[in-house]
Amino acid sequence: MKTRILILGAGFGGLELSTSLSEALGDRLDITLIDKAEGFIFGFSKLDLMFGRVPNEAAIRHSYASYAKPGVTLLREAVTAIDPEAKRVTTDAGVHECDILVVALGADYDVSATPGVVLGRNEFYSVPGAGHLATVLPGFAGGDVVVGVCGAPYKCPPAPSECALMLHDYLVNRGLRDRSTITLVNPLPSPVPPSPETSKALLEAFAERGITFMASTRIASVDEAAHRVMLDNGNALACDLFMGVPKNRAADVVVSSGMTENGWVPVDPRTLETKYPGVFAVGDLANTGAPKAGVFAEGAARAVAANIISRLRGEAETAKNPGFGSCYIEFGAERIARVEVDFFSGPKPTGTFYGVSEALRVDKQLFGSTRRSRWFGMTV
Ligand SMILES: Cc1cc2nc3c(=O)[nH]c(=O)nc-3n(C[C@H](O)[C@H](O)[C@H](O)COP(=O)(O)OP(=O)(O)OC[C@H]3O[C@@H](n4cnc5c(N)ncnc54)[C@H](O)[C@@H]3O)c2cc1C
Repeated sequence: MKTRILILGAGFGGLELSTSLSEALGDRLDITLIDKAEGFIFGFSKLDLMFGRVPNEAAIRHSYASYAKPGVTLLREAVTAIDPEAKRVTTDAGVHECDILVVALGADYDVSATPGVVLGRNEFYSVPGAGHLATVLPGFAGGDVVVGVCGAPYKCPPAPSECALMLHDYLVNRGLRDRSTITLVNPLPSPVPPSPETSKALLEAFAERGITFMASTRIASVDEAAHRVMLDNGNALACDLFMGVPKNRAADVVVSSGMTENGWVPVDPRTLETKYPGVFAVGDLANTGAPKAGVFAEGAARAVAANIISRLRGEAETAKNPGFGSCYIEFGAERIARVEVDFFSGPKPTGTFYGVSEALRVDKQLFGSTRRSRWFGMTV
């Protein structure tokens, strides 16, 4: 009998996990990978979509139809219930049982936590939201713009900073910058807390461009009709255009499975095992203490894959989630910097900043193309 491995979610974590397992053991495994979407979309592509660098969603979607790996069956189904004790999963198409269950369903958005934030309308963290703002921006005639985060933790901590810098360029190009203000509201104490150097560079870039950064503050509500957002400190900001990051948390289906505490799945941060034996949580939905980002989901997935492979070979499970990752940061004008963050090696998280360079722009393209090639066999 082949070991049945069920992976929920074909995002950064799920794709890397199924690919690693397939590479090592291929047809000796019975891997089922389930996702409700039509294809994979990189998080950073949402910014490209919103600012019109790509024409539409189809241009950034990598169809699951091109995912073909020995031993892996990818099913397009929506997960509707998870029973972690029985390792049984219900979808809109049926019931799946397995020997090893990996939940990698990412972070979902809880807009009910912030009155006035509407999915697919005034936020850029979902694809429909970024797509909708792409249709709103060309009609914007200048005014007060608030890029606002509704709660922490949220995925890709630098993304709101990138949004503010890219928005600056967009408004300059349209001749609207003099008629506009940009305020970035963020519950974190600095743009990228583990890396003071990165935060300093971003704060300097904001100052040069007249972008106001409000640290340790979150959006409490949005009132589009009154052209105003309320902050958690009770103050209000004038706002003609809101570009939001909704409160993040694990999807409802994960919460109702009983696997979460305070909205996230507790795990051993180094092995990703949940309190249910043989059940792992990988990626944004797992509470590891490390940032919620694709590179961290990938590192976690590789560790889980290595330990599953060892377990099946009867060897010791020694792989550890590195909690280390490198994120590219758009500084505007297509200039890219990079921050390397290490969460687990020392007594506290550390970060190293690499300033804007042409080489990093090429590196970022390579980051995308290597994943496209590894997961989908694409050559560009
Ligand atoms: C604007 C923005 C910019 C970003 N930039 C970067 C960056 O530069 N670098 C970086 O590393 N990270 C970046 N990220 C973060 C990155 O996208 C996520 O952290 C990463 O995708 C998390 O991987 P994951 O596997 O946990 O979840 P995901 O990649 O989100 O995958 C989860 C999958 O689960 C599926 N799913 C969810 N619910 C169900 C269900 N009920 N049934 C079936 N399938 C379901 C979804 O369709 C999805 O495919 C960015 C994010 C945003 C929003």
